[in-house]
Amino acid sequence: MGDWNAMWSGLGIDLEAHQQLLDSLGPVYQELFLGREGRPEAMGYFDSVVGDIHGGRVSELVKAKDGGWPVVGIFCIFVPEELVLAAGGVCVGVCGGAQMPIPKAEEVLPRALCPLIKSAVGFKLSATCPYFQVLTEGWGETTCDGKKKAWETLSEFMPFHVLEVPQRKTKEDFSLWLHEVKRFAQHMREVGQPFGVSELKDAIKVVNEKRMAMQRLARLRWKNPVVLSGLDGLLVEQLSFFDDPERFTKQVNRLSDELEEASGLNPPSPRIMVAGSPMPIPHWKVHAIIEGAGAVVVHEESCIGSRYYRDLVDGEGESEDALLEAIARRYFKITCACFTPNHERVERVVEEALQSGANGVVYHSLSFCQIYEGEVRKVKRALEERGIPTLVISTDYSPEDAEQLRTRVEAFLEEIS
Ligand code: SF4
Ligand code: SF4
Repeated sequence: MGDWNAMWSGLGIDLEAHQQLLDSLGPVYQELFLGREGRPEAMGYFDSVVGDIHGGRVSELVKAKDGGWPVVGIFCIFVPEELVLAAGGVCVGVCGGAQMPIPKAEEVLPRALCPLIKSAVGFKLSATCPYFQVLTEGWGETTCDGKKKAWETLSEFMPFHVLEVPQRKTKEDFSLWLHEVKRFAQHMREVGQPFGVSELKDAIKVVNEKRMAMQRLARLRWKNPVVLSGLDGLLVEQLSFFDDPERFTKQVNRLSDELEEASGLNPPSPRIMVAGSPMPIPHWKVHAIIEGAGAVVVHEESCIGSRYYRDLVDGEGESEDALLEAIARRYFKITCACFTPNHERVERVVEEALQSGANGVVYHSLSFCQIYEGEVRKVKRALEERGIPTLVISTDYSPEDAEQLRTRVEAFLEEIS
């Protein structure tokens, strides 16, 4: 790990607050990850990324920015990263998963907003996240009301743009979405390099390969007995938004190669799928509680999870229009709870619970995430019709409710064992 203080100073980081953030995460990471025995050797790469999370990767972004390339921060899996890559840019996820910056955000945003939004805005306002500091621009979307208003606030502090995501999936909605994807493509051409069919195909291939590697890892996690802890699986998914895509794909495949040969962990039981709101790094609380209680998380139906890697772009088209449409179609399949109706998500949750061999589902919504809370009833009913019990929890990033959650999770596990 290098000494990054000079780089952080150059990025305008509040060094003291930033150090407090790093100091608070170190012991947690040690306890949840490094201190566990029997982890695959290939997890060493991902540990090294986390160990230097504000260093090595940020220095790559600084280099890209200094070279005149766009460094684009995205807040949602609707922003097509293929188009950032085609324009020669770098894409990085900047959803907030930490509690520390939230009070700063509450100075400018209502308290009754989900922690993901407040954490992200707080990171920018407190100058404690080098990723935010290096961005040339940010892109958000109109998926939930909290985000829409947060973007207006954030745009006072950084160059910020918004993609309009329709809330239904009709033909007309798709036309609007295709228009938005083309507008984004045009913008990326203006801030990056002009691109055509060949750059688009290359970028589609890179991102498809990343998603395929994650699909492969997901299938390995469904094995019985399990070969990877849920915490490690979640960590890999969280890092998919930070790392260089080609390097990341290689490392995920390396991990899968090792897991193919693994004989399996002592059979922890039961197997749990977590569904619902995203869990950005370092929001490990839910997995830590479930696995601390003796179960194992085998799958995440989440944007930090299957909603991110499940669908691929059809890269066979031979014109720019065909490829842009294929990109728009792929992103339009995302089953975010912002859509109404959203039968597809209910079907996918059931399908993924069955595929992963889950004995139960923990439905996790972040506090004040109305759209995921709003879908609880339908999802729970559909799962229970297939004999899969569901525990519904709503939580944030603070440790305050951990004991209460632990009691509820333990009771649920006892019930389904
Ligand atoms: S839950 Fe919806 S709004 Fe949130 S990151 Fe996922 S797709 Fe975007
Ligand atoms: S977690 Fe829910 S409330 Fe928060 S940004 Fe995502 S969709 Fe919106």
